[in-house]
Amino acid sequence: MTKSTFAEIGGVLRAHQRFAVLSHVRPDGDALGSQLALALSLQKLGKDVTVWNEDGLLQKYNFLPGGERLTQPPREPQDFDAAVALDTATQNRLGTAGESVRSAKTWINIDHHPSNPGYGDLVYIDPTSPATGQILFELIQTEQLPMDRAIAENLFVAISTDTGSFQYPNTTARTFEIGAELLRCGVDVGRVSQLLYENYPRRRTELLRELLGTMRFEAGGKIASFSLSLKVAADLKVKPEDNEGLIDHLRAIHGVIVAIFFEELTDGKVRVSMRSKSEEVDVSAICQKFGGGGHKLAAGTRVRGTLAEVEQKILKAICDVIDCNS
Ligand code: AMP
Ligand code: MN
Ligand code: MN
Repeated sequence: MTKSTFAEIGGVLRAHQRFAVLSHVRPDGDALGSQLALALSLQKLGKDVTVWNEDGLLQKYNFLPGGERLTQPPREPQDFDAAVALDTATQNRLGTAGESVRSAKTWINIDHHPSNPGYGDLVYIDPTSPATGQILFELIQTEQLPMDRAIAENLFVAISTDTGSFQYPNTTARTFEIGAELLRCGVDVGRVSQLLYENYPRRRTELLRELLGTMRFEAGGKIASFSLSLKVAADLKVKPEDNEGLIDHLRAIHGVIVAIFFEELTDGKVRVSMRSKSEEVDVSAICQKFGGGGHKLAAGTRVRGTLAEVEQKILKAICDVIDCNS
């Protein structure tokens, strides 16, 4: 895979004027936090920065500094000097945000997904980094790009959400050092964590109640899953963002190795979210068989079919990897 240096990326960031900063559809905290951190840093450098995400700024991330800058892309495409794709494993996961960039002299791809094929002109992919936000911190520090409390808060959200609050095995000593550095920049960890993890709408917990009602165990308890139908989603008026993190309730169960969340979508597909608790079970490899990707322990895909059909297909694929007969 081509790999650019921070110096090359820093050089291009300083040389160009008009930037588009993009990330993946159905964004998470790493996607949105990374977008806003880079956008604010570029803005402080005096650049013209456009920040687009197909889904816009999710309500629950409203508190992110600079959040008002992040919008859904316009229908009419625009031209840029450089476009930056952050935390986006494949270019088509930029969705309409990618389509709205008519031209960019330079495409920069910064990510931590091992399945990222390395699209773009300047590519920096570090699969050992737990969050794209961590790579951005290193870029900003190495290249002495602008940093302040607002940028630090966005980076903290990016890193905290992708590491499960500094808990997942992808968390390194360096992650804690960066966390400390971000606190020194003025991040209020109690306030930000409360906004992130103790501020959910009531319907999210009502959704959890429904999901737990569909909970199933396979392979002697090694596989746990639950499913969300369009009907239940409509009845509870849930937003797509409400289910981020609910899969962790399955992962948290003793004996569970693979947790799966199936969500019926309006386009005849089912969104599949997978988590693994064992280095020996690579859920990204399983999702790649169905056109998706992600990380070894956290991955996803979208599969055409009804809930029942997709559940069956996915379970079968997992049973090719772990012993389901014991
Ligand atoms: P999620 O289960 O949606 O939280 O996603 C878990 C991980 O898998 C994230 O790192 C995603 O970027 C990645 N992922 C999810 N869906 C896809 C997909 N359709 N294609 C590639 N990667 C995906
Ligand atoms: Mn992400
Ligand atoms: Mn990420």
